[in-house]
Amino acid sequence: MTLRLDGLERRYGGLHALKPVSLTIGDGARHAVIGPNGAGKTTLLHLIAGSLKPTSGRLLLDGTDITDLTVPRRVTVGISRTHQHPAVYPKLTVAEHLTLAIPPRRVRGDHGTVVLEMVGLDRSAATPAGKLSYGQQRLLELAVAVAAGPQLLLLDEPSSGLSDHDLRRLSTVLAALGNDVTVLLVDHNLALVRDVADHVTVLHHGQHLTTGTIDQVRADSAVRQAYLGTP
Ligand code: ATP
Repeated sequence: MTLRLDGLERRYGGLHALKPVSLTIGDGARHAVIGPNGAGKTTLLHLIAGSLKPTSGRLLLDGTDITDLTVPRRVTVGISRTHQHPAVYPKLTVAEHLTLAIPPRRVRGDHGTVVLEMVGLDRSAATPAGKLSYGQQRLLELAVAVAAGPQLLLLDEPSSGLSDHDLRRLSTVLAALGNDVTVLLVDHNLALVRDVADHVTVLHHGQHLTTGTIDQVRADSAVRQAYLGTP
């Protein structure tokens, strides 16, 4: 799925949280968005997921304008997401989360078990989500997003709060996703970004500074000045 942002912008009163950004995220891309705190990364993700409306601009998915679609409609067209803080139901078991996530067309076979094995939670299927560690809750939320069979997967700081072990698991899961899934991730962990992303977009104070490979971005003088603090 190709996602095109066309002058996408968001203001909060006088604050320009995201200045107009135009960008294409290609089919099957692994695209990361980085930038200092308050750069507008989460705002961008909310706009794509539909939980926030843009002040102006458009979103096109495979050429179709989805700017006005509600969150549930975006889910049905293949957009799944995880949140900055894992959104799980503490009293529901791991297996119950997967049952709720899997669309009826995928109920055949043991899709849920396969996804739980991917994230290393297959032995915790009967455990209530509230009893999992923070990192495991993040991985469960990722499993739920993957089990829905997305074509565009949005990940908001997936590495935040993960142990080294869980971080390796996250990298493995992302590497195992097929090319039919386009991934857009926001993260501060540059090692993860280098590991998984083929394209990187840098935001700073709501402004789109540049997009390129991680090496191109690191060599960009505006990025070095604004983000890394070196000329
Ligand atoms: P972080 O890395 O700290 O999560 P971010 O790059 O994700 O930061 P955003 O959360 O998108 O940044 O915030 C961008 C700007 O918009 C910040 O100045 C933030 O304070 C502001 N902002 C975010 N949400 C709101 C809101 N609901 N009302 C007013 N201002 C907001």
